[in-house]
Amino acid sequence: MENKMKALVTGGAGFIGSWIVDYLIDNGFEVSVLDNLSTGRMENLAHLKNKIKFYQADIRGKYIKHVFEREKPYYVFHCAAEINVRESLKNPEKCIDVNVNGGLNLLENCVKYEIKKFIFSSTGGAIYGDNVKIPTPETEEEKPTNPYGKSKLLIDRALEDFRRKGLDYVSLRYSNVYGPRQNSKGEAGVIAIFIDNLLSRKKPRINGSGEQTRDYVYVRDVAKANLLVLNSDLSGIFNVGTGIETDINEIYQRIINTLGLDVKAEHGPAIDGEQMRSCLDSKKLINKGWKPEYDLDSGLEETIIYFKGKIN
Ligand code: NAD
Repeated sequence: MENKMKALVTGGAGFIGSWIVDYLIDNGFEVSVLDNLSTGRMENLAHLKNKIKFYQADIRGKYIKHVFEREKPYYVFHCAAEINVRESLKNPEKCIDVNVNGGLNLLENCVKYEIKKFIFSSTGGAIYGDNVKIPTPETEEEKPTNPYGKSKLLIDRALEDFRRKGLDYVSLRYSNVYGPRQNSKGEAGVIAIFIDNLLSRKKPRINGSGEQTRDYVYVRDVAKANLLVLNSDLSGIFNVGTGIETDINEIYQRIINTLGLDVKAEHGPAIDGEQMRSCLDSKKLINKGWKPEYDLDSGLEETIIYFKGKIN
């Protein structure tokens, strides 16, 4: 018999995935996680000990069918991905292989094992690209400028074809997500990187003028959006952002104010081709009952407490 309270989370040992796992467990779901631990960490799930099942596996592999056979999930949350934009420019094959081939492998299994809904962690900024309406609605034409954005868009488009094979889906296009458990060693999370640098007494570096803007959404609000979409009438593509544009200089200033520090950042050269503005219009999801509850200051406070705990 099907069990509506069973969910599989790919990439569940990562930053966003582990928060989705937390929210699912808090809402009474039985959760299994599939992750190859390439960037994810078991410590993100350590507090859940025996409450979840964990499979160390690659989304590109044949093995994942055993996970479907054994776990019989009702919902699949797909967070596993190569997320490093700069790396995707250097090594597009790997990004396409994981995000597209891995994504399709997962989708084929979802159809075969009759998953009721597929919830995809997609991206807004990298899919819409530069020179678009700000804040950007879902109706804007997509103009991804790097392999990472293109790989996410390919899956977004493929989802419509898989719907015809019977798989319902929601694709959530996140803006820039930040919060506890974000990896400060990668290139994705400028907030995590700045906080980690400042707490380790390293001088943070701002690329270029620091006038590049992003829409920073707190990870708990993102996890909540993932649960909201289980509501059966939600289907299709939805942006998940705050609609507020903040530049890097301001983010830096807010972090040092919250930390009570007076450290000037260094400005390095601008990164070639870096997107100048990104901010999402999420009214479509807001009209369905979602709302970002954390403002930047309260999100930063929680994030700083987390990083302080790691460094002390
Ligand atoms: P993350 O690196 O913390 O999480 C990715 C997880 O996927 C990791 O646990 C990693 O080990 C796992 N993984 C990677 N390749 C895999 C593979 N081949 N097989 C199995 N597992 C694999 O990154 P995140 O920031 O938590 O991102 C989660 C998702 O959200 C990604 O799909 C990303 O594209 C999307 N996203 C993130 C942001 C952001 O600001 N962080 C913004 C938009 C979209």
